[in-house]
Amino acid sequence: MILCKSIAELRALLKPLKTQGKTVGLVPTMGALHAGHGSLIAASARENDFTVVSVFVNPTQFGPNEDLDAYPRTLESDCQLAEKMGANAVFAPSVHEMYPSEDMTWVEVTGNITKVLCGKSRPIHFRGVTTVVAKLFLIAAPDRAYFGQKDAQQAEVIKRMVKDLFFDLELRIMPIVREEDGLAKSSRNTYLNAKERQAALCLSRSLKEAERLYRNGERNPEVLKKAVRNVLNAEPLAEIDYVDIYAVPGLKEPAVPLTGENLLAIAVKIGTTRLIDNVVLGDITTC
Ligand code: AMP
Repeated sequence: MILCKSIAELRALLKPLKTQGKTVGLVPTMGALHAGHGSLIAASARENDFTVVSVFVNPTQFGPNEDLDAYPRTLESDCQLAEKMGANAVFAPSVHEMYPSEDMTWVEVTGNITKVLCGKSRPIHFRGVTTVVAKLFLIAAPDRAYFGQKDAQQAEVIKRMVKDLFFDLELRIMPIVREEDGLAKSSRNTYLNAKERQAALCLSRSLKEAERLYRNGERNPEVLKKAVRNVLNAEPLAEIDYVDIYAVPGLKEPAVPLTGENLLAIAVKIGTTRLIDNVVLGDITTC
């Protein structure tokens, strides 16, 4: 497996593959790779001739009081996991490589889709995500790009960007990978101490309760949100950021009673660690 640190190196690597008609899959990550990332890499390796995993802790998607400095950086073990899951190259650029000038171009999806849910407490987050993902798409020009349903709003925002900017690629959104006890895998889980790790189970538990009610016919979004809040409020270490329901695709206000597919998304602070999780309520549920 090849480690590229510069844009020029990656382009030089991919160019001959493309002229040979080989397909390229891109898996954008911030590193600290775990089995959730692994599932995206494995899917890309199955579906493409060549898989590139980008590892870049993108500063523009972190707010001033967020965890940019503390975010785990583990490039060596990331390369090992990426290779094991079938990656052919890891692209790990420096901040200067990706943002060479203080004057810069932003790529921003506007409207409710970036203002609701995480957009409320992280107002600049999605602008940073779409800017870096657009750069990665332009550098690697992948045939397919892989994202996780774990970051469901991010997936919706990127779908919008790909449509609006006519990126010629297929987006593949892969299911949430969980620990055996239900906690969604996340690089931020490493911040949790033993007590907090246990407390964090309230996230998946609360979504399961909503799924149970939904399966039993409950279609009132307020009742479903209340049930989720009740489970979360019962956990003393949990502090709710949001519990909300939006129609998918597009994150529009849901129909009442609920019809079609709707995203039930939550963000909860466990101690100082902010965790997110979600489930799609519809014909097929995924939690
Ligand atoms: P991150 O490194 O957190 O930016 O995540 C990189 C990609 O991996 C994003 O598309 C995430 O949605 C995806 N991802 C992170 N955790 C999981 C998980 N538990 N299951 C599936 N995909 C995930």
